[in-house]
Amino acid sequence: MNVLELTRLGANHVRNAVAEEIYLRTGRDMTVPVSIYGEVIERCNYKCRYCEYWRRPHYRDDMPIEDWKKALLDLKDFIGHYHIEFAGGEPYIKKGFVELLTFCGEQDLKWGVTTNGAAFGNEKVVDWTVAAKPFNINISIDSNDAKIHDYSRGIDGSLESIVAGIGNVARARSKTVWIFRSSSRRWFTSSTSGSFPNWSIGSATSGRPPSISSRSSSTPKRPRTNSGSAPTNWTT
Ligand code: SF4
Repeated sequence: MNVLELTRLGANHVRNAVAEEIYLRTGRDMTVPVSIYGEVIERCNYKCRYCEYWRRPHYRDDMPIEDWKKALLDLKDFIGHYHIEFAGGEPYIKKGFVELLTFCGEQDLKWGVTTNGAAFGNEKVVDWTVAAKPFNINISIDSNDAKIHDYSRGIDGSLESIVAGIGNVARARSKTVWIFRSSSRRWFTSSTSGSFPNWSIGSATSGRPPSISSRSSSTPKRPRTNSGSAPTNWTT
């Protein structure tokens, strides 16, 4: 990610803010999407206690990868520069997802992913991901206490696996000339509150070891429903 690309994306947001203001004042609509979320799959390989994705009795069919490619190019024609955040469910369990990331890299599309990080235990997946030039990689971590974490995510060994995956991402990032942001995100629940890790890998420049920094309490919280489960439009 270079300064020019960041400036372009920033300019898109500013332009759209102006367009929204014009729309509100005059009714003339010149707005275009600048941030897009792509739910590539509803299924997940985790069973987080606060999430309803894995409890769904039925899943909608996923859009095929070839259709995703076409849609992303159509969006490029319509919008110009934009950022898409892939999510799920767990995006990496979708067949062909890494191929889609590679396509994004080839087409110079700005993409990020929000993932539970389990797939990053596979170094090949990490290498392909980093080679596809991500804008950002977000990995959720619920606690630095393995017992609490595994209870919260519903998978034994989940903390160990995610930490290993983060290490693989850091290693791959240190070997590339591409700069991207990788961060962990906390999930506040009664069981995880007070036991959060300080593992957010801050924005790092290639060539330097990735810095491990603490995140402030302003880290976005997932809103909770009365039953404690996650809202349906929130992912990984
Ligand atoms: S919160 Fe994310 S990782 Fe956990 S079950 Fe839901 S979709 Fe999967």
